[in-house]
Amino acid sequence: METKKGKLFVISGSSGVGKGTLLKQLVQKNPELEVSISATTRSPRPAEVDGVNYFFITKEEFLKEVENGEFLEWAEFNGNYYGTKQAWVERNLNKGRNLILEIETNGALQIKKKLPDSVLIFILPPSLEELEHRLRGRNTEDEETIQGRLHEVRREIECSKNYDYTVVNDDLDKALLELERIIKSIIR
Ligand code: ADP
Ligand code: 5GP
Repeated sequence: METKKGKLFVISGSSGVGKGTLLKQLVQKNPELEVSISATTRSPRPAEVDGVNYFFITKEEFLKEVENGEFLEWAEFNGNYYGTKQAWVERNLNKGRNLILEIETNGALQIKKKLPDSVLIFILPPSLEELEHRLRGRNTEDEETIQGRLHEVRREIECSKNYDYTVVNDDLDKALLELERIIKSIIR
């Protein structure tokens, strides 16, 4: 019997909105969901581990992989490159696994074009003030990086119109339940 293909969920939202926090809890509660590990040219943050949070590679390595057609999608974000490996996604979808990509909006729209069955979910902040407060409170970026990330926010939120679902991350537990409800209604 042929294995039923897995579903691909794409989650986006501005820096500091709580994507990482939500996804960590989502996967702890639902270990059958797999999160893709992207390649990036940005430097690791203090607690980040190569091969766990990202595959940290050089710009030269990244561009070579682009040239070799290894990415399902890739984009530049705030001066760094980020990309999703095509082979990993195809292999796991064919095994029937349900996958999650946590990527920015340009990459998400590339995925929707290539794989129209994918489901795009955008995480919104309760307000722009709260978003800035969370981004600063995380204490992982310098001022220039924070300004660069805040600069992207309005464009990204505008882009959420092209998504299948939006979830407001005000109360963390409520946002997690809403995210789970959407995903479970699709993979049921
Ligand atoms: P992202 O992955 O979207 O950049 P993070 O998950 O790193 O964002 O969250 C940014 C900061 O906001 C973290 O310090 C996190 O603990 C905090 N945070 C996340 N969700 C909430 C929430 N619902 N209410 C208050 N703080 C939150
Ligand atoms: P960060 O540097 O905060 O980890 O990520 C910056 C942005 O890049 C976030 O919006 C994150 O979702 C996005 N991102 C992470 N991995 C990928 C990827 O593989 N492709 C794309 N297009 N964006 C990514």
